[in-house]
Amino acid sequence: MAEKTLDIPISTTAEDFGGLRMTKQRQVVYDVLAALGREHPTAAEIFVDAKERMPSISLATVYNCLETLTGAGVIRQVCIDRAAARYCANLTPHAHFYCDCCEKVFDIELKDSAEATSVWSLPKGSKVTEMQVAMRGICGLCPRCRSEES
Ligand SMILES: [Zn+2]
Ligand SMILES: [Zn+2]
Repeated sequence: MAEKTLDIPISTTAEDFGGLRMTKQRQVVYDVLAALGREHPTAAEIFVDAKERMPSISLATVYNCLETLTGAGVIRQVCIDRAAARYCANLTPHAHFYCDCCEKVFDIELKDSAEATSVWSLPKGSKVTEMQVAMRGICGLCPRCRSEES
């Protein structure tokens, strides 16, 4: 059985960024997001760490970089109702599960050999080019969420 790791494939070369010119700021923002792994930070949280690596960076710049990186498909934006947008550097196919209790965002992988598009009754002939699936609920993992149940 293959061992499951939490390693996220990280893009490091210009080609990996879809031809996007990696400015110093974009690189810093990307590196911070990648270093946070599966934390799914908000722009404000990324800003805190980015400032440590590059003291001159502003929150507006961080927002701009995140927008550009999302547009280039280098990172993903995680949109959850009523919550600030979060960001994700994990580009493998996965859905997001948001816990209403601890406010964490979890990466949810597909079950073995499942095909995401086969779950939905798509119109005939349609082709999915991008998929964003988000769920919300109670994770039941952290002590606070467990006590909420009882
Ligand atoms: Zn939770
Ligand atoms: Zn994710």
